[in-house]
Amino acid sequence: MNWKHTLSSMMAATALAAAASGQDNWSYSGANGPDTWGGISGVCANGSMQSPIVIEGTESAYLNRLEPTYAVSPVMMHNDRHTIRFTYASGSMMKVGNKEFELLSFHFHTPGEHRVLTTSFPLEIHFDHKAADGSLARVAVLVKEGRSNVAAEELWPLLPIEPDQTTRRPEVKINARDFMPNAREYYRYMGSDTMPPCTEGVNWYVLKEPIEFSSQQIAALRGIMGENARPLQPRNNRMILDALPN
Ligand code: ZN
Repeated sequence: MNWKHTLSSMMAATALAAAASGQDNWSYSGANGPDTWGGISGVCANGSMQSPIVIEGTESAYLNRLEPTYAVSPVMMHNDRHTIRFTYASGSMMKVGNKEFELLSFHFHTPGEHRVLTTSFPLEIHFDHKAADGSLARVAVLVKEGRSNVAAEELWPLLPIEPDQTTRRPEVKINARDFMPNAREYYRYMGSDTMPPCTEGVNWYVLKEPIEFSSQQIAALRGIMGENARPLQPRNNRMILDALPN
C-alpha cells in the first residue's frame, strides 16, 4: 500500500468516525467555513461547475416541462447540523421529457443560495431527485416573505430543533408540492451540490415563481439552522437556459 492509499484510508476512517458521531468537519463560517471546503473535497475549490450562481444573461429555449407526480409521504425529518432535511417515501416521481427522476428528499437554506439578477431571497428549498441511471436533478424553489404557508403551519411545530435530532411522525403526511409554486417555468443550468463534497453534474432547475412563507416561518428555520447558504460561485462559461412556456 502506498502512502497515498494509506492517507486516503485514514481520511476515510476519520470521515466515517465523524459521520458515526453525527458530526463532520465543515460549516458555513469560521475556521471550517466555505473557503476551506476544498480540503474536504478538491472540487469544492477547483471545480468549474459549482453552485450556487447568479441567474442572469440567460438564453431562451424550448425545454421539457417539469411534471411532478408526487404522492404524499409520512413525515421523517432530520437536523444534520447543516440543514433540516425531509426524507421522502419512495415512489414519488418527476418526469422531464421522457426521463423519470425519483424525489429522495428536500432541505432548506436560510438565506437563499441562488440570486436572480439582483434579487436575493430569505429562504430556498432544494428538492433532490435521482434517475435510475444515477443522474441527479435538483429543483430549487425560491421563497419570499409574505403569506403563511399552510403546510408549514402544520409541520413547523414538529421541526427537529436539536442537532442530530430526527422527527418521525408516520401519521402526519406531507406533499412536496405544497412547497412548490403552481407555475413551473424554470431556469436550467449544470452545477453542483452546494454542500461538501460539492459533487458536479447536477441538473439544476430553478423555478422562476417564488412561493411565500410568513416572516415567522422563515425565522423559525433560521433560528434552528442559522445561516446556511454557500457563497455565490463563478459561473465560468456555463449557459443558463430560460425555459419558455410550452
Ligand atoms: Zn441545498
